Amino acid sequence: MEVNLISDTVTRPTSAMLEHMFKAKVGDDVFKEDPTAIKLEKRVAQMFGKPAALFFPSGTMANQTAIKVHTQPGEQLIADKDAHVFNFEAGGVSFNSGVSCRLVDGLNGTFTAKQVKDLINPPEFFHTPITSLVCIENTANSAGGSCWDLNAIKQIRTVCDDHDLRLHLDGARIWNAMVAKNESPEQYGELFDSISVCLSKGLGCPVGSLLIGDEKFISKALRIRKVLGGAMRQIGYLAAAGLYALDHHIERLADDHQRATELAEVLNDKTFVRAIEPVQTNIVIFYLNQKVVVTEFLQVLADQGIKIIHLGQGKLRMVTHLDYTASIHSRTLEVLKALEL
Ligand SMILES: *Cc1c(COP(=O)(O)O)cnc(C)c1O
Repeated sequence: MEVNLISDTVTRPTSAMLEHMFKAKVGDDVFKEDPTAIKLEKRVAQMFGKPAALFFPSGTMANQTAIKVHTQPGEQLIADKDAHVFNFEAGGVSFNSGVSCRLVDGLNGTFTAKQVKDLINPPEFFHTPITSLVCIENTANSAGGSCWDLNAIKQIRTVCDDHDLRLHLDGARIWNAMVAKNESPEQYGELFDSISVCLSKGLGCPVGSLLIGDEKFISKALRIRKVLGGAMRQIGYLAAAGLYALDHHIERLADDHQRATELAEVLNDKTFVRAIEPVQTNIVIFYLNQKVVVTEFLQVLADQGIKIIHLGQGKLRMVTHLDYTASIHSRTLEVLKALEL
């Protein structure tokens, strides 16, 4: 049995999804002639109650495009110290936009309006960078898939309005947050200037992200996407996977969350586990006792066919997903329960 828990990006399209992809009507999307891509963009925009959306090959490109549209070189954005846009997009904020990051020392990847306010540079003080953007990540990946409180976001929105700042949501796993907290996409649409969402994580698509915003924002994003090499041709095949996933793979995220919780419960009883981050969605982050060698632990799991990821400094991660089925899950729980180090 192969159990791959390194990420929710390891899924392969189901046969039903593939069938849907095969049947897609496609055209050249660079000429805006791919009906399925247009359908997906319209549908996602509508879901979030926004005027427009644009398909991207990756979440990274969607985030980077949003940052480029919202800022000018020399300006500064505010994000959590563990934010994906800061840590895992290869320095793209400075490479693509010439923008610096002011980092918030947040709690589980979330922060308060007061923390944002304290980090905004005074606009009239010409020595400091102009603060122009705040980025929020939901769920917060590095913090173990933790969810934001909508009220905290509302308060940050007010601070942004008061200081003429844009507000971007890195919503790579926003579907998980909405399922876990029973929230609707419109609730997010009304709070953010732009939102990026991924189809290739919990939703189980092979490729794809979307960036959502108003018409003016999306028309600027279209140009940046072209600059970054993200304008593609018959993407209707990928968009069809997205349309299928929106219909069939959102509600089932609750199963992933339940399984992640059960994995954490088993780990919690293990003497070799030092600590586990609270599980809110589909990510389990845990730390081993000092005396356990991480590489040896990974090998013991690998010998049982279980792959998990080491994020460095003893931080280990398991992510549940569409291909991590009920039967694979029970087997994994048995292996973990029996494990002694
Ligand atoms: C995965 C991820 C992204 C980027 O997605 P890619 O499609 O891998 O480029 C952005 N933000 C967060 C929080 C992510 O987890």
